[in-house]
Amino acid sequence: MARSGILYLVSGPSGSGKSTLCRRLAAEGEAEFSISCTTRQPRPGETHGKEYFFLTMEEFEAKVAAGDFLEHALVHGNRYGTLRSEVVERLAAGTDVVMDIDVQGAGLVRSCDDPAIRAALVDLFVMPPDEDELASRLRGRGTDSDDVIALRLRNAIDEMHHWPAYSYRLLSATPEEDYVRFKSLLTGERLRVSRLREA
Ligand code: 5GP
Repeated sequence: MARSGILYLVSGPSGSGKSTLCRRLAAEGEAEFSISCTTRQPRPGETHGKEYFFLTMEEFEAKVAAGDFLEHALVHGNRYGTLRSEVVERLAAGTDVVMDIDVQGAGLVRSCDDPAIRAALVDLFVMPPDEDELASRLRGRGTDSDDVIALRLRNAIDEMHHWPAYSYRLLSATPEEDYVRFKSLLTGERLRVSRLREA
């Protein structure tokens, strides 16, 4: 028996810990990370083709026009998009994929026109423990300016209201606890009969 690939879609405000969860899942070989395109500037230490594909606005728009994106959205003043090529073939080959995308992108994936993607989807919202902890996580990163932090904090508080649209919600505690709970979700999803198929 083989299994069809699962698409783990993870959202949550900046500072919720979702990126750490997604990256660890990929680093441990549990799923392949869907590398998004963005028009934002790379942060120190980020590399093109690893964290993101960093594109100019013109390059991004050319991909929109070519229909290369499964979804795309404007987030914190920059454009972000998921390439179909990061997702579609992997799922068909039975590989699990994890994507870290915002609430708008999540809505677009849920309503996308590809039934295989909708069937593969498992969506999780990661909630920061509270606003104070969120603010201190955002400041503690040391990679963003005060203006960017203030904007992300305002957006985070708005974004936190979107959790009821998701199938699963994880209230962030420590990175280790979050990961253990995320892994238990994966274990359950992998047992679903609907995902099994004749090899
Ligand atoms: P950051 O700039 O901190 O890496 O990401 C900012 C926000 O953009 C996060 O909420 C992240 O989940 C979201 N994001 C990253 N990639 C994508 C994408 O491909 N599509 C959408 N809609 N959002 C994305």
